[in-house]
Amino acid sequence: MTHPTRITSLTRHPEGGRKLNVVAGGAGFIGSHLCRALLDRGEGVLCLDNLQTSRPSNLSALTGDAAFTFLRYDITQPLPAPVLAEAPRITRVWNLACAASPPLYQKDPEHTMLTNVVGTNNLLHLAEAAGARFLLTSTSEVYGDPEVHPQPEDYRGNVSSTGPRACYDEGKRAAEALTFDYGRAGRVRVRVARIFNTYGPNMDPRDGRVVSNLICQALRGEALTIYGDGAQTRSFCYVADLVAGLMALMDADIDGMAPVNLGNSAEITVRELLDQIVALTGTQAGVEHRPMPVDDPRRRRPDLRRAADLLGWAPRVSLAEGLAETWAWFAAELQGEIRAAPAQAAE
Ligand code: UDP
Repeated sequence: MTHPTRITSLTRHPEGGRKLNVVAGGAGFIGSHLCRALLDRGEGVLCLDNLQTSRPSNLSALTGDAAFTFLRYDITQPLPAPVLAEAPRITRVWNLACAASPPLYQKDPEHTMLTNVVGTNNLLHLAEAAGARFLLTSTSEVYGDPEVHPQPEDYRGNVSSTGPRACYDEGKRAAEALTFDYGRAGRVRVRVARIFNTYGPNMDPRDGRVVSNLICQALRGEALTIYGDGAQTRSFCYVADLVAGLMALMDADIDGMAPVNLGNSAEITVRELLDQIVALTGTQAGVEHRPMPVDDPRRRRPDLRRAADLLGWAPRVSLAEGLAETWAWFAAELQGEIRAAPAQAAE
Protein backbone atom coordinates (compact mmCIF):
# COMPACT_ATOMS: atom_id res chain seq x y z
CA MET A 1 0.00 0.00 0.00
CA THR A 2 1.41 3.36 -0.94
CA HIS A 3 -1.10 5.85 0.38
CA PRO A 4 -0.69 6.46 4.11
CA THR A 5 -3.30 8.59 5.81
CA ARG A 6 -2.21 12.09 6.72
CA ILE A 7 -4.61 13.36 9.31
CA THR A 8 -4.98 17.01 9.97
CA SER A 9 -7.45 18.37 12.48
CA LEU A 10 -10.74 19.79 11.28
CA THR A 11 -9.92 23.46 11.19
CA ARG A 12 -13.35 24.75 10.25
CA HIS A 13 -16.78 23.38 10.88
CA PRO A 14 -19.81 23.78 8.71
CA GLU A 15 -22.26 26.15 10.31
CA GLY A 16 -24.70 24.64 12.79
CA GLY A 17 -28.23 23.85 11.70
CA ARG A 18 -27.31 22.88 8.16
CA LYS A 19 -27.55 19.35 6.82
CA LEU A 20 -24.05 17.89 6.97
CA ASN A 21 -22.89 15.65 4.11
CA VAL A 22 -19.74 13.57 4.29
CA VAL A 23 -18.38 13.26 0.75
CA ALA A 24 -15.56 10.72 0.49
CA GLY A 25 -13.66 11.39 -2.72
CA GLY A 26 -15.00 14.94 -2.75
CA ALA A 27 -11.84 16.38 -4.33
CA GLY A 28 -12.14 14.10 -7.36
CA PHE A 29 -13.77 14.67 -10.71
CA ILE A 30 -17.38 13.76 -9.90
CA GLY A 31 -16.98 14.37 -6.15
CA SER A 32 -15.99 18.01 -6.61
CA HIS A 33 -19.11 18.70 -8.71
CA LEU A 34 -21.25 16.97 -6.07
CA CYS A 35 -19.70 19.08 -3.26
CA ARG A 36 -20.41 22.24 -5.26
CA ALA A 37 -24.03 21.24 -5.89
CA LEU A 38 -24.63 20.41 -2.19
CA LEU A 39 -23.10 23.73 -1.09
CA ASP A 40 -25.18 25.55 -3.70
CA ARG A 41 -28.36 24.23 -2.16
CA GLY A 42 -27.30 25.43 1.28
CA GLU A 43 -25.97 22.23 2.86
CA GLY A 44 -22.70 21.64 4.74
CA VAL A 45 -19.98 19.39 3.29
CA LEU A 46 -17.20 17.53 5.08
CA CYS A 47 -14.95 16.30 2.27
CA LEU A 48 -12.66 13.32 2.90
CA ASP A 49 -10.03 12.64 0.25
CA ASN A 50 -6.52 11.14 0.20
CA LEU A 51 -5.68 13.25 -2.89
CA GLN A 52 -4.39 10.12 -4.66
CA THR A 53 -5.99 10.98 -7.99
CA SER A 54 -7.58 14.36 -7.27
CA ARG A 55 -6.57 17.74 -8.61
CA PRO A 56 -5.77 20.28 -5.87
CA SER A 57 -7.50 22.96 -7.96
CA ASN A 58 -10.78 21.06 -7.65
CA LEU A 59 -10.46 21.68 -3.91
CA SER A 60 -9.39 25.30 -4.10
CA ALA A 61 -12.67 26.07 -5.88
CA LEU A 62 -14.52 24.79 -2.79
CA THR A 63 -12.42 25.85 0.18
CA GLY A 64 -13.62 29.46 0.00
CA ASP A 65 -17.08 28.34 1.09
CA ALA A 66 -17.66 28.58 4.86
CA ALA A 67 -19.85 25.47 4.79
CA PHE A 68 -17.05 23.35 3.30
CA THR A 69 -14.45 21.46 5.35
CA PHE A 70 -11.66 19.30 3.98
CA LEU A 71 -9.84 16.49 5.71
CA ARG A 72 -7.05 14.57 4.03
CA TYR A 73 -7.94 11.00 4.90
CA ASP A 74 -7.62 7.62 3.23
CA ILE A 75 -10.84 5.65 3.81
CA THR A 76 -8.90 2.37 4.15
CA GLN A 77 -7.69 3.67 7.53
CA PRO A 78 -9.80 3.75 10.73
CA LEU A 79 -12.01 6.82 10.86
CA PRO A 80 -10.23 9.68 12.61
CA ALA A 81 -11.71 11.02 15.85
CA PRO A 82 -12.57 14.47 14.41
CA VAL A 83 -14.87 12.79 11.87
CA LEU A 84 -16.52 10.51 14.45
CA ALA A 85 -17.08 13.56 16.63
CA GLU A 86 -19.25 15.04 13.87
CA ALA A 87 -21.51 11.94 13.75
CA PRO A 88 -24.47 13.53 15.57
CA ARG A 89 -24.70 16.18 12.83
CA ILE A 90 -24.06 13.98 9.79
CA THR A 91 -27.21 13.33 7.75
CA ARG A 92 -25.73 11.81 4.60
CA VAL A 93 -22.60 9.85 3.67
CA TRP A 94 -21.57 9.69 0.00
CA ASN A 95 -18.84 7.25 -1.06
CA LEU A 96 -17.13 8.44 -4.25
CA ALA A 97 -13.64 7.55 -3.07
CA CYS A 98 -11.71 5.34 -5.48
CA ALA A 99 -9.37 5.78 -8.42
CA ALA A 100 -11.68 5.12 -11.40
CA SER A 101 -9.49 5.29 -14.48
CA PRO A 102 -8.08 1.89 -15.56
CA PRO A 103 -4.38 2.94 -15.66
CA LEU A 104 -4.67 4.64 -12.26
CA TYR A 105 -6.68 2.00 -10.39
CA GLN A 106 -4.33 -0.68 -11.76
CA LYS A 107 -1.22 1.11 -10.43
CA ASP A 108 -1.85 -0.11 -6.88
CA PRO A 109 -4.46 -2.87 -7.18
CA GLU A 110 -4.26 -3.87 -3.50
CA HIS A 111 -5.13 -0.35 -2.46
CA THR A 112 -7.96 -0.19 -5.03
CA MET A 113 -9.51 -3.38 -3.64
CA LEU A 114 -9.12 -2.26 -0.02
CA THR A 115 -10.56 1.18 -0.82
CA ASN A 116 -13.69 -0.52 -2.09
CA VAL A 117 -14.05 -3.12 0.66
CA VAL A 118 -12.42 -1.75 3.84
CA GLY A 119 -13.11 1.85 2.88
CA THR A 120 -16.79 1.21 2.17
CA ASN A 121 -17.07 -0.66 5.46
CA ASN A 122 -15.54 2.28 7.37
CA LEU A 123 -18.00 4.70 5.77
CA LEU A 124 -20.95 2.38 6.41
CA HIS A 125 -19.89 2.31 10.09
CA LEU A 126 -19.89 6.09 10.10
CA ALA A 127 -23.36 6.21 8.51
CA GLU A 128 -24.62 3.70 11.07
CA ALA A 129 -23.18 5.68 13.99
CA ALA A 130 -24.70 8.87 12.57
CA GLY A 131 -28.07 7.38 11.58
CA ALA A 132 -27.28 8.86 8.15
CA ARG A 133 -28.35 7.76 4.69
CA PHE A 134 -25.49 6.20 2.68
CA LEU A 135 -24.86 6.22 -1.06
CA LEU A 136 -22.26 4.03 -2.76
CA THR A 137 -21.05 5.00 -6.20
CA SER A 138 -20.64 1.68 -7.93
CA THR A 139 -19.88 1.28 -11.61
CA SER A 140 -20.90 -0.16 -14.95
CA GLU A 141 -17.72 -2.23 -14.57
CA VAL A 142 -19.75 -4.63 -12.40
CA TYR A 143 -21.20 -5.85 -15.74
CA GLY A 144 -17.68 -6.63 -17.03
CA ASP A 145 -17.60 -7.39 -20.77
CA PRO A 146 -21.39 -7.72 -21.02
CA GLU A 147 -23.26 -10.43 -22.94
CA VAL A 148 -26.53 -8.54 -22.45
CA HIS A 149 -27.00 -5.24 -24.23
CA PRO A 150 -27.97 -2.65 -23.06
CA GLN A 151 -27.26 -3.50 -19.43
CA PRO A 152 -30.22 -3.55 -17.02
CA GLU A 153 -29.53 -3.66 -13.28
CA ASP A 154 -30.64 -7.30 -12.95
CA TYR A 155 -27.94 -8.47 -15.40
CA ARG A 156 -25.33 -10.21 -13.23
CA GLY A 157 -22.32 -9.47 -15.39
CA ASN A 158 -19.40 -11.14 -17.12
CA VAL A 159 -16.47 -10.19 -14.93
CA SER A 160 -13.00 -11.74 -14.65
CA SER A 161 -11.85 -12.19 -11.06
CA THR A 162 -8.29 -12.86 -12.24
CA GLY A 163 -7.59 -10.03 -14.70
CA PRO A 164 -6.07 -6.58 -14.16
CA ARG A 165 -9.49 -4.87 -13.89
CA ALA A 166 -10.61 -7.18 -11.06
CA CYS A 167 -9.28 -4.95 -8.28
CA TYR A 168 -11.82 -2.35 -9.38
CA ASP A 169 -14.80 -4.28 -10.73
CA GLU A 170 -14.70 -7.12 -8.20
CA GLY A 171 -13.92 -4.54 -5.51
CA LYS A 172 -17.04 -2.60 -6.45
CA ARG A 173 -19.10 -5.80 -6.52
CA ALA A 174 -17.91 -6.57 -2.97
CA ALA A 175 -18.70 -2.99 -1.94
CA GLU A 176 -22.23 -3.39 -3.30
CA ALA A 177 -22.66 -6.68 -1.41
CA LEU A 178 -21.50 -5.07 1.84
CA THR A 179 -23.75 -2.06 1.33
CA PHE A 180 -26.82 -4.23 0.73
CA ASP A 181 -25.90 -6.38 3.77
CA TYR A 182 -26.01 -3.29 6.00
CA GLY A 183 -29.28 -2.30 4.34
CA ARG A 184 -30.85 -5.76 4.72
CA ALA A 185 -29.88 -5.86 8.40
CA GLY A 186 -31.62 -2.52 8.93
CA ARG A 187 -28.37 -0.91 10.08
CA VAL A 188 -28.17 1.83 7.41
CA ARG A 189 -30.55 3.24 4.77
CA VAL A 190 -28.58 2.64 1.61
CA ARG A 191 -28.45 3.65 -2.04
CA VAL A 192 -26.26 2.17 -4.81
CA ALA A 193 -25.65 4.02 -8.09
CA ARG A 194 -23.95 2.23 -10.98
CA ILE A 195 -22.16 5.00 -12.84
CA PHE A 196 -21.44 4.66 -16.56
CA ASN A 197 -18.71 6.59 -18.42
CA THR A 198 -18.82 10.22 -17.34
CA TYR A 199 -16.88 13.23 -18.62
CA GLY A 200 -16.67 16.98 -18.14
CA PRO A 201 -14.75 19.79 -16.45
CA ASN A 202 -12.52 18.86 -13.46
CA MET A 203 -11.29 15.64 -15.09
CA ASP A 204 -7.59 15.21 -14.51
CA PRO A 205 -5.71 15.69 -17.81
CA ARG A 206 -3.49 12.76 -16.71
CA ASP A 207 -6.46 10.52 -15.95
CA GLY A 208 -5.97 8.35 -19.04
CA ARG A 209 -9.68 8.25 -19.94
CA VAL A 210 -10.63 8.38 -23.59
CA VAL A 211 -12.39 11.78 -23.51
CA SER A 212 -9.67 13.54 -21.52
CA ASN A 213 -6.89 11.87 -23.51
CA LEU A 214 -8.30 12.78 -26.94
CA ILE A 215 -9.16 16.37 -26.02
CA CYS A 216 -5.79 16.99 -24.34
CA GLN A 217 -3.94 15.38 -27.25
CA ALA A 218 -5.82 17.61 -29.71
CA LEU A 219 -5.00 20.69 -27.62
CA ARG A 220 -1.32 19.77 -27.51
CA GLY A 221 -1.12 18.94 -31.20
CA GLU A 222 -0.33 15.29 -30.45
CA ALA A 223 -1.69 12.26 -32.32
CA LEU A 224 -4.97 10.95 -30.88
CA THR A 225 -4.60 7.49 -29.34
CA ILE A 226 -7.07 4.75 -30.27
CA TYR A 227 -6.84 1.44 -28.43
CA GLY A 228 -7.64 -1.52 -30.65
CA ASP A 229 -9.67 -0.81 -33.80
CA GLY A 230 -11.92 1.76 -32.11
CA ALA A 231 -15.05 -0.33 -32.77
CA GLN A 232 -15.70 -0.80 -29.02
CA THR A 233 -18.62 1.28 -27.77
CA ARG A 234 -19.28 3.45 -24.74
CA SER A 235 -22.14 5.76 -23.75
CA PHE A 236 -20.90 9.06 -22.33
CA CYS A 237 -22.73 11.08 -19.69
CA TYR A 238 -22.01 14.74 -18.93
CA VAL A 239 -21.03 15.26 -15.30
CA ALA A 240 -23.81 17.76 -14.45
CA ASP A 241 -26.43 15.18 -15.49
CA LEU A 242 -24.71 12.49 -13.46
CA VAL A 243 -24.57 14.63 -10.30
CA ALA A 244 -28.27 15.48 -10.68
CA GLY A 245 -28.93 11.73 -10.85
CA LEU A 246 -26.88 11.01 -7.73
CA MET A 247 -28.72 13.70 -5.78
CA ALA A 248 -32.10 12.45 -6.99
CA LEU A 249 -31.17 8.94 -5.86
CA MET A 250 -30.02 10.08 -2.42
CA ASP A 251 -33.11 12.26 -1.95
CA ALA A 252 -35.69 9.78 -3.26
CA ASP A 253 -38.08 8.26 -0.78
CA ILE A 254 -37.41 4.67 -1.87
CA ASP A 255 -36.28 1.59 0.02
CA GLY A 256 -32.93 1.70 -1.81
CA MET A 257 -32.33 -2.05 -1.82
CA ALA A 258 -31.71 -2.20 -5.57
CA PRO A 259 -28.89 -0.64 -7.60
CA VAL A 260 -29.73 2.11 -10.09
CA ASN A 261 -27.86 2.72 -13.37
CA LEU A 262 -26.91 6.36 -13.99
CA GLY A 263 -25.44 7.46 -17.30
CA ASN A 264 -26.46 8.37 -20.81
CA SER A 265 -27.82 5.77 -23.23
CA ALA A 266 -26.47 7.44 -26.41
CA GLU A 267 -23.98 4.79 -27.47
CA ILE A 268 -21.10 5.46 -29.88
CA THR A 269 -17.92 3.74 -30.94
CA VAL A 270 -14.59 5.11 -29.79
CA ARG A 271 -13.85 5.83 -33.44
CA GLU A 272 -17.01 7.98 -33.73
CA LEU A 273 -16.03 9.80 -30.56
CA LEU A 274 -12.64 10.50 -32.08
CA ASP A 275 -14.29 11.86 -35.25
CA GLN A 276 -16.43 14.23 -33.15
CA ILE A 277 -13.38 15.46 -31.26
CA VAL A 278 -11.45 15.97 -34.50
CA ALA A 279 -14.37 18.00 -35.91
CA LEU A 280 -14.69 20.02 -32.68
CA THR A 281 -11.02 20.84 -32.27
CA GLY A 282 -9.83 20.95 -35.86
CA THR A 283 -6.74 18.94 -34.94
CA GLN A 284 -4.70 17.65 -37.86
CA ALA A 285 -2.24 15.66 -35.80
CA GLY A 286 -3.59 12.27 -36.90
CA VAL A 287 -4.27 9.01 -35.09
CA GLU A 288 -1.95 6.63 -33.26
CA HIS A 289 -3.14 3.03 -32.85
CA ARG A 290 -2.26 1.22 -29.64
CA PRO A 291 -3.06 -2.32 -28.46
CA MET A 292 -6.44 -2.98 -26.87
CA PRO A 293 -6.10 -3.17 -23.05
CA VAL A 294 -6.74 -6.57 -21.40
CA ASP A 295 -10.43 -7.21 -20.54
CA ASP A 296 -11.53 -3.94 -22.20
CA PRO A 297 -15.34 -4.27 -22.61
CA ARG A 298 -16.48 -4.33 -26.26
CA ARG A 299 -19.84 -2.68 -25.66
CA ARG A 300 -21.41 -0.65 -22.88
CA ARG A 301 -24.73 1.15 -22.69
CA PRO A 302 -27.00 1.63 -19.68
CA ASP A 303 -30.62 0.61 -19.52
CA LEU A 304 -31.97 3.68 -17.71
CA ARG A 305 -35.59 2.64 -17.20
CA ARG A 306 -35.22 2.08 -13.46
CA ALA A 307 -33.72 5.55 -12.95
CA ALA A 308 -36.59 7.07 -14.95
CA ASP A 309 -39.28 5.11 -13.08
CA LEU A 310 -37.90 5.55 -9.55
CA LEU A 311 -36.37 9.01 -9.77
CA GLY A 312 -38.02 10.69 -12.75
CA TRP A 313 -34.45 11.39 -13.86
CA ALA A 314 -32.93 11.32 -17.35
CA PRO A 315 -29.77 12.93 -18.75
CA ARG A 316 -30.32 16.15 -20.71
CA VAL A 317 -26.95 17.23 -22.13
CA SER A 318 -26.08 15.96 -25.60
CA LEU A 319 -22.59 14.68 -26.35
CA ALA A 320 -21.99 17.63 -28.72
CA GLU A 321 -22.88 20.17 -26.00
CA GLY A 322 -20.96 18.34 -23.30
CA LEU A 323 -17.83 17.90 -25.42
CA ALA A 324 -17.87 21.61 -26.29
CA GLU A 325 -18.03 22.53 -22.58
CA THR A 326 -15.30 20.04 -21.75
CA TRP A 327 -13.11 21.25 -24.60
CA ALA A 328 -13.42 24.87 -23.43
CA TRP A 329 -12.55 23.87 -19.87
CA PHE A 330 -9.48 21.85 -20.88
CA ALA A 331 -8.34 24.64 -23.21
CA ALA A 332 -8.31 27.06 -20.27
CA GLU A 333 -6.75 24.44 -17.99
CA LEU A 334 -3.88 23.62 -20.33
CA GLN A 335 -3.19 27.21 -21.38
CA GLY A 336 0.52 27.87 -21.56
CA GLU A 337 1.19 24.23 -22.11
CA ILE A 338 -0.36 24.06 -25.56
CA ARG A 339 2.15 23.72 -28.35
CA ALA A 340 -0.17 23.78 -31.33
CA ALA A 341 -3.18 26.05 -31.25
CA PRO A 342 -6.43 24.41 -32.42
CA ALA A 343 -7.87 25.55 -35.76
CA GLN A 344 -11.17 26.51 -34.19
CA ALA A 345 -12.73 26.19 -30.77
CA ALA A 346 -16.31 25.07 -30.32
CA GLU A 347 -19.04 27.68 -30.58
N1 UDP B 1 -9.43 4.35 -25.14
C1 UDP B 1 -8.87 4.75 -26.34
N2 UDP B 1 -7.89 5.72 -26.31
C2 UDP B 1 -7.49 6.32 -25.16
C3 UDP B 1 -8.09 5.90 -23.93
C4 UDP B 1 -9.05 4.92 -23.97
O1 UDP B 1 -9.21 4.24 -27.42
O2 UDP B 1 -6.61 7.20 -25.22
C5 UDP B 1 -10.52 3.34 -25.18
C6 UDP B 1 -10.44 2.26 -24.12
O3 UDP B 1 -9.66 1.15 -24.56
C7 UDP B 1 -11.91 1.90 -23.94
C8 UDP B 1 -12.63 3.21 -24.20
O4 UDP B 1 -11.72 4.04 -24.92
O5 UDP B 1 -12.32 0.97 -24.92
C9 UDP B 1 -13.03 3.92 -22.91
O6 UDP B 1 -11.90 3.97 -22.08
P1 UDP B 1 -11.89 4.75 -20.69
O7 UDP B 1 -10.56 4.48 -20.06
O8 UDP B 1 -12.27 6.17 -20.90
O9 UDP B 1 -13.06 4.09 -19.85
P2 UDP B 1 -13.47 2.57 -19.53
O10 UDP B 1 -12.52 1.62 -20.22
O11 UDP B 1 -13.39 2.47 -18.06
O12 UDP B 1 -14.85 2.46 -20.07
